[in-house]
Amino acid sequence: MSDSSQPVIVVGAGLAGLSAAKTLIDAGVAVRVLEASTTLGGRVQTDEINGYRFDRGFQLINAKYPEVESLNIINELDFCYASRAVDIALEGSVVRLGDPRRYLTSAFRSQSGSMREKFSFLKYLVSHSAHGSNVESELLAAGCNKLYARVLRPFLTGVFLAHPSRVDAVSGREIIKSFISGAPGLPAMGAGELSRVLASKIGAVETGVQVNAISGLTLSTSHGEISARAIIVATDQTTAAQLLEIEDVGESVSCTTWFHSTPDLFECDSTLRVDGLARGPIVNSIAISKLLPLSAPADRTLFSSTSLGHASESEIRRHLSLMWGVDTASWELVAKYDIKNALPLFPPGQARAQSLSVKPGVWRAGDYLSSASQNGALVSGRLAALELTNFLREQREPTLRGDNPK
Ligand SMILES: Cc1cc2nc3c(=O)[nH]c(=O)nc-3n(C[C@H](O)[C@H](O)[C@H](O)COP(=O)(O)OP(=O)(O)OC[C@H]3O[C@@H](n4cnc5c(N)ncnc54)[C@H](O)[C@@H]3O)c2cc1C
Repeated sequence: MSDSSQPVIVVGAGLAGLSAAKTLIDAGVAVRVLEASTTLGGRVQTDEINGYRFDRGFQLINAKYPEVESLNIINELDFCYASRAVDIALEGSVVRLGDPRRYLTSAFRSQSGSMREKFSFLKYLVSHSAHGSNVESELLAAGCNKLYARVLRPFLTGVFLAHPSRVDAVSGREIIKSFISGAPGLPAMGAGELSRVLASKIGAVETGVQVNAISGLTLSTSHGEISARAIIVATDQTTAAQLLEIEDVGESVSCTTWFHSTPDLFECDSTLRVDGLARGPIVNSIAISKLLPLSAPADRTLFSSTSLGHASESEIRRHLSLMWGVDTASWELVAKYDIKNALPLFPPGQARAQSLSVKPGVWRAGDYLSSASQNGALVSGRLAALELTNFLREQREPTLRGDNPK
């Protein structure tokens, strides 16, 4: 039986932990949130440095994610909607693809795949995937061939931060659909606003408190021992596995996001650009200050470009030059983020976790248990908190469980 005089402890103040804490508070449960880092938000944070605002890795927020919608938070974020198109850089030209109602003429361009392949992709979107297959196999089997090679593979590699052949077809399709039907954008002050505003709804988060071990319902932390009524471990999967003595740790993928600033206002809009010819390590690049003017000084353009694997700055600069069709020698590298364990990988055949409960009184939450997205993190936190509140209710009201004699 847990001690009702103790608070529930949430370990980690990323989106999963914040969502768990908010759900518990809404249910009237006393909570303490312990965060190892000195700042909150986990992977969704923005750093303000020398007049720039850098997100910790390029990401967009889908305002139509079910969890984001139910938090009813978008109107508090000064949200800037991004273009739902993507620019495909090819040899000496750029093709814009997106909603055919807006970009009708480019939809007919054969450089990015035939009309038949584009219809095949629409058919793929309304069909169903099988666990065990991977995203690439299904798109090729659907007949997307050149459209896949020129558009979908480069775009999706930037979304999954991994080659689509490494991603489970069911998990991958869910992410693809949410991009197609979504409303992507970012808060004017950067992605970190989502974490900041969410945290403001739950009161104080105790930052700089690292949990080192968990024994029963006692946490050993950098600030001493803490007893809990129940615990939700909402850390990354490696730390969760260590704290909870779980042997199986899933795979994660890493990336690097490079921020370059141009000495003048570059002529372009804020459409995301990918390389249809895969000529280098960059998976996507965007003139982020065209979407978020506050992310750079008024007389500069800030580019955010993400690469996979090891790459030198000169390789990045060379690839940027091919993708943007300009000499990038005068572009200044103003920040670089190496992000280890940026996203959990759901390899073919790997389904999401069935239960978030680990042992009596202890749950876990995080994107790696649900889906590799902000929505996945938020939903796992909320569901862990709901399972926990049911457990507390059952402890208070044991006769309501159906074992009451008639
Ligand atoms: C480069 C990049 C691009 C992305 N693009 C998108 C996108 O476009 N769309 C999308 O939906 N999602 C995207 N994502 C994914 C999304 O950001 C994550 O899925 C989500 O933020 C994960 O949240 P989380 O709470 O599960 O984990 P985390 O954010 O990792 O939070 C875990 C928290 O636990 C804390 N912690 C760890 N160990 C301890 C400890 N021992 N004690 C106390 N605290 C601890 C950590 O400091 C951290 O704050 C992207 C992610 C990255 C990195």
